[in-house]
Amino acid sequence: MTRSSPGRKGDFPGASSALAVCAHPDDESFGLGAVLNHLVLSGVRVSVLCFTAGEASTLSPSDQLGSIRAAELRTAAGELGIESVHLGDHPDGALGEIPLDRLSREVAAMIETVGADFMVVFDEGGVTGHPDHRRATEAALSGMPDVPVLGWCLPSRLGEQLNEEFGTSFVGRDDSEIDMFVAVDRTAQRRAIACHASQSLDNPVLWRRLELLGDHEALRWLRPPGDG
Ligand SMILES: [Zn+2]
Repeated sequence: MTRSSPGRKGDFPGASSALAVCAHPDDESFGLGAVLNHLVLSGVRVSVLCFTAGEASTLSPSDQLGSIRAAELRTAAGELGIESVHLGDHPDGALGEIPLDRLSREVAAMIETVGADFMVVFDEGGVTGHPDHRRATEAALSGMPDVPVLGWCLPSRLGEQLNEEFGTSFVGRDDSEIDMFVAVDRTAQRRAIACHASQSLDNPVLWRRLELLGDHEALRWLRPPGDG
């Protein structure tokens, strides 16, 4: 396990471009935001592939929610220093019903387009336990077999604490399964979260998670470099 400082050059040696693969607008900010901005500060170009417009969220329900959240995603990505965003039109809440090879092909095409050296995704359990999160990660892992995949994860003691406090379904990892604790600056992430106003204004679980995480994020290689 290694520890590093914010945006230190050489955290990801040889990497110049990363692709984040996620399910919903806000995953790139609420979940991956500090890590993605850390990569940007480290000199890595970061792009995002988001499979759905998040139209099924129970927070701020509206007929227009998909287009509202698509716009929020683009503004938030700007705050994080993300270079390009591709938003898919798959159904929010039903990503598991879309054939995996279709999602995988979209991942592969985006990797080609942005020249990604590695991917960043939610951990295999989906972190919050949302099935769409697990499906997005599954698509990333099957998208391009020789591209390393870095998983954002929660230490299990922290996930258990959130589940106790809020009755949530976080899926954490023991320290022995975590490859890196990265020291992050959450300034840009907090700005990006604010862009997702439809989802962040009444979201006590999010704020509590960030409070418990403090200035570190945990990462594990789902497919390590050189393992392709
Ligand atoms: Zn999500």
